Amino acid sequence: MSEHRITGLGVHIVRIPAREVHSHGSGDVSHINSVLLELSTDTGLTGWGEASPWPVFTGTVESSAAALHVHLRPHVSGADPVQVEPMMAQAERVLVGHPEAKSALECALLDIAGQIAGLSMAELVGGRQRETIPLSFSVANRDFERDLDCISALWNNGVRLFKLKAGFHEHGFDLMRLEKLRGLYGKGLCLRVDYNQGLPAYDAIRRIRDLEAFHLTFVEQPVKMNEHAALAEITRAVDVPIMADESVFDPNGALYAAAGRIADVFSLKTNKAGGIRRCLEVAAIARAAGIEVYGGCMFETSIAHAAGAHLMGALPGLHLGCEFYMSTYYAEADLADTPFPVKDGLVHVPKGPGLGVRPDPDKLARFRTEILT
Ligand SMILES: [Mg+2]
Repeated sequence: MSEHRITGLGVHIVRIPAREVHSHGSGDVSHINSVLLELSTDTGLTGWGEASPWPVFTGTVESSAAALHVHLRPHVSGADPVQVEPMMAQAERVLVGHPEAKSALECALLDIAGQIAGLSMAELVGGRQRETIPLSFSVANRDFERDLDCISALWNNGVRLFKLKAGFHEHGFDLMRLEKLRGLYGKGLCLRVDYNQGLPAYDAIRRIRDLEAFHLTFVEQPVKMNEHAALAEITRAVDVPIMADESVFDPNGALYAAAGRIADVFSLKTNKAGGIRRCLEVAAIARAAGIEVYGGCMFETSIAHAAGAHLMGALPGLHLGCEFYMSTYYAEADLADTPFPVKDGLVHVPKGPGLGVRPDPDKLARFRTEILT
């Protein structure tokens, strides 16, 4: 037990407009809607975490806020912030689901524990395996001409990984965009496709085979999250690696997915698994099954991005990069006191101690719609 006790818990609900609406197989997104958790101790320390739900994917802002404000608050108040696993086990006992809220809680605890230990969160959960991670940007505008301008600017900034969001318009639109990008940028461009559950299972294999001429790194979540048999069949039928995102949330889901080999790659997200350490468990299951992992994210600010970057920094093996681009290239503004560390197409793992990133009070006040204390 440490000498520190949690005495304050603030739940900040924020809404930040995006620069452009992004379209996906499961719908359009125009804002970042997040819940920021602020924990403070009787010794003057403060830790931050972020829940970034997406209603068609994980849950809602309202349920994340209620999970933290109503259901977890009594268990967190008075707790020792260093006792992370006992706290998270308790959260699991008293509240089913709500991985985004649990992820925010774990992050805020690790932020404080890291400050106490003088270690970054990556070091706290195992050590820094790398200092940088290649950044992927998601091409998701209905107006492809605007995306082409955006890609050109990012290319000049050193970004080489691009993920085309597909399946929200007709198949020919997806093929046209891939052909155009390959033609403009050649093999130096690393291209991926994410359907966000947008393909009909009965015709998914034929449409993905049409994409294979464009030498894709992977195709992500072609069918609905619960269509596991179809996903496994697609993975067997096509040559391009298939990534599961919406179909794999946590260690239980990963175990099932690995046993049925429903995909070749899992997208790791702290908000899906319920925190960094649960993501490391998903990654361990993937590694044992010969399945690759990838650094995914929700629609989030640099607080959740930083947690993801610490996770990616601590992973033993990583070959496909990450997509922590929201705070730099998607949101109209970010909340952090310093710009999220993206340079020359690389995300830099924050130095810490703890999370190494925190909200600027003025920016937080500007984008906050409600605070629960
Ligand atoms: Mg995805």
